[in-house]
Amino acid sequence: MRSNILRRLAGYVRGRSARPHYAIMPPMPDQISIRIHHQKRRGMAMKRTPVGLVVFLPKWMRSDSPQAQAFIAEGIHKLGAPPPREETLTAGDLRRMVNVWAQVLNVQPARVQIRTMYRKWGSCSSKGTICLNSALCSVPEELAEYVVVHELVHLTHFNHGREFKAAMTRALPDWRERELALTALLDGRVD
Ligand SMILES: [Zn+2]
Repeated sequence: MRSNILRRLAGYVRGRSARPHYAIMPPMPDQISIRIHHQKRRGMAMKRTPVGLVVFLPKWMRSDSPQAQAFIAEGIHKLGAPPPREETLTAGDLRRMVNVWAQVLNVQPARVQIRTMYRKWGSCSSKGTICLNSALCSVPEELAEYVVVHELVHLTHFNHGREFKAAMTRALPDWRERELALTALLDGRVD
């Protein structure tokens, strides 16, 4: 089972076409997806996230300035180019997945949000709001499904304890492999 998922994952990573969804910096190869985030900060920063490379710049600095461009080029060199992204699922697919699994698990999220998240694949609030990273549209379906089930199980078990894990195993016997495969894809966390 695990090797099957990993093989599919490998094929997925290799086979993705260069179709960028996020802001592309002109001098960069067009398959690299980079998001520019202006912040109140002094220096520049850059990291790999579930949505690709994110560059944090001070508010006053233009992203096409020589300084920023040199920083980004060096960052890509250090961090490695992010994989090109191709959306295989739509937000509607994710919502349908939530509905199906909510019935299976007999739970009802108060709200489901799908949005850009920089650090997590998904989260579940104590009020029952489930957030899913829109970047899940670009991962293999079984990995997005893992995040959906994980967050829905939190509606019953609001921690990662033994009961949570047992419920995960009942729902998705191979959830640990899926979690590993998702972690291998990028640095995003699941909360
Ligand atoms: Zn969690």
